[in-house]
Amino acid sequence: MNLSDSAKKLIHLISSAGYEAYAVGGCVRDFLMQRPCDDIDITTSATPDELENILSDNHIKFIETGIKHGTVTAVLEDGSVFEVTTFRTEGAYSDSRHPESVSFVTDINKDLARRDFTINAIAYNDEQGFVDPYGGQDDIDLKIIRAVGDADTRFKEDALRIMRAVRFASVLGFAIEEKTKKALFANKELLKNISAERIYTELSKLLMGDYVYNVLVEYKEIMAVIIPELEPIFYVEQNTKWHIYDVWHHTAKSVEQAPEDLALRYTMLLHDIGKAYTKTTDENGTDHFKGHQKISGEYALTALKRLKAPNEVLDRAMAVIPIHDMHIGIEEKNIKKWLSRLGESTLRDLIAVKRADKLAQNPEMIGEEMARLVITEEKLNAIIAAGEPFEVKNLAVNGNDIMALGYRGKEIGVVLNTILEKVIDGELPNDRENIIRFLTDFKL
Ligand code: ATP
Ligand code: MG
Repeated sequence: MNLSDSAKKLIHLISSAGYEAYAVGGCVRDFLMQRPCDDIDITTSATPDELENILSDNHIKFIETGIKHGTVTAVLEDGSVFEVTTFRTEGAYSDSRHPESVSFVTDINKDLARRDFTINAIAYNDEQGFVDPYGGQDDIDLKIIRAVGDADTRFKEDALRIMRAVRFASVLGFAIEEKTKKALFANKELLKNISAERIYTELSKLLMGDYVYNVLVEYKEIMAVIIPELEPIFYVEQNTKWHIYDVWHHTAKSVEQAPEDLALRYTMLLHDIGKAYTKTTDENGTDHFKGHQKISGEYALTALKRLKAPNEVLDRAMAVIPIHDMHIGIEEKNIKKWLSRLGESTLRDLIAVKRADKLAQNPEMIGEEMARLVITEEKLNAIIAAGEPFEVKNLAVNGNDIMALGYRGKEIGVVLNTILEKVIDGELPNDRENIIRFLTDFKL
């Protein structure tokens, strides 16, 4: 395995001091899969105290990041950072979250035994090569996620592993081995004991995975435990010429089709929940979901708050979900109106969401709308590039000019917005003299 020079150096320093040290976990797995990996975790037989001595002796800075669990973060001269964790075993778990105790050990095999999946339980250093007691390399070749040891016990110990299994399935495109899969479904309710922060981290990685469609479809019952708001759309058929999928398959497809942007992925996941509450069928047998966007927005807000999604994700999702079906149009005038209502970044989000939504509908019906979205985006780019006004602050007059004409208080905003509308509609050039003359002639 091709370790970076700084990783080699650190491993070498520790082994020169008489201890064992290995790269372990995600970076070894990613290397074997020829995937890029940014952080190399190191595991060692040195206890945190011993490790700190070695680092100090070699003038390497470190931070005690999780001394209780035996983790020290080493910061090398070149700025590279490594989490170094002492080999450990974990005592019993009583709450499906935390081990009651951890103890340091000197056998790498014991440390690998506490790790979640065989593909994550491989260690490597140049001297020993791969240490792989659970057949992780074979499982990588077979593209299988398999629990280390008894899956049922492992999920009962730490239910977050259930989320991690489906997250790895989504990111790596691996199948979950049958026994592991059975245990995962059997223990799904334990996910309710896991903190929102830990769930959110894993769910976010899951949503960004290349194989997210398959995972959302196959593991929807897991999704229902962490976001119960989703369950009502699992079986909602949508009999319209626009759709070939039921609401859940459509949702999953739209997540997959969204750009690799977390806020947009959450937006797609939650955008159609309201369809479960608004379905009507007309005399021709066609389904309608009038008003679903707004209701989706209400459920999405509850879900995102429960997940403790960061404000950036929450705000962006909430800006678009309640309006995701509204028509933008391709006329410059309309685009400017949307710009003045939403601002540039939200309008761009709305276009991206509409595109992902369309790409998850009936492919035979989307051609025209997809072409229109391209035009909308091109015109939007042109408006921005030309610096054309779409906000009050872009106007050639400001509040002081309006006050000078005798307006006060709230009137000022009303006048500015009326002027902006006229400028957008092309009725009035955005030019100070013209605007002031207009206001003097036609007292608003
Ligand atoms: P990523 O590429 O997303 O960082 P990773 O496998 O490195 O994936 P981390 O959360 O960084 O995941 O964890 C590092 C390693 O620690 C894992 O590869 C695994 O060996 C072990 N690990 C992490 N979380 C758990 C857990 N909940 N139970 C058991 N082992 C775990
Ligand atoms: Mg990692």
